[in-house]
Amino acid sequence: ELDAQWAAAWMRDAAVSLSDNRQRLIDLDRAIGDADHGENMDRGFSAIVEKLDADGVPATPSDVFKTAAMTLMSKVGGAAGPLYGTAFLRGAAAVAGKDALTADDVAAFLAAARDGIVSRGKAEPGDKTMVDAFSPAVEAAQTAASAEASGPEALDAAANAAEAGLAGTEPLIARKGRASYLGERSAGHLDPGAASTALILKAAARAAG
Ligand code: ADP
Ligand code: MG
Ligand code: MG
Repeated sequence: ELDAQWAAAWMRDAAVSLSDNRQRLIDLDRAIGDADHGENMDRGFSAIVEKLDADGVPATPSDVFKTAAMTLMSKVGGAAGPLYGTAFLRGAAAVAGKDALTADDVAAFLAAARDGIVSRGKAEPGDKTMVDAFSPAVEAAQTAASAEASGPEALDAAANAAEAGLAGTEPLIARKGRASYLGERSAGHLDPGAASTALILKAAARAAG
């Protein structure tokens, strides 16, 4: 069941995964940015876990996502903190008051989160950003929900689509964020933010299973 316990387990699983992949994300960001994405994400999700440990698990998934949003906004500088913060805040609003998320709720959560990233960062699909992992995830969750999939199945489909979206960032030329300063030299590398999005959505699916 995609309840508050799942949402908290998601945050914990994401924190472990981002910590395990800290160096990989740093290396991806070194190639086309400033080599801090692994550190930023590890710090942010560790802080979310500390907050959940200190305050206990909130009543609903939406409350967990609000805690995540506030923590990411206050603890993570750079581009990713405000972008992920906005994603979780908008996602939280989309599922406010629900005790457990259906596949439709998963799709609504992801769509609102993606729209938050886009309204904040103005990136379009193909600009070589986290949007290129998030947008296919939204579409996959919507397709799964239309096909009467369960919530966990929708998450699984979303996570797989995010991974495929990440792979698709490699040939792209960055048009937003620091990597855009490199112009054509940004091609031939995976986008670090798309990589962290894939890790975070994989964690969501794992926590559900
Ligand atoms: P910074 O670039 O400030 O050091 P991070 O390294 O933590 O921040 O995050 C970089 C990632 O943020 C990029 O790989 C990209 O996915 C994402 N990003 C940057 N700018 C934007 C934007 N305008 N819209 C969406 N995502 C963006
Ligand atoms: Mg960086
Ligand atoms: Mg930075």
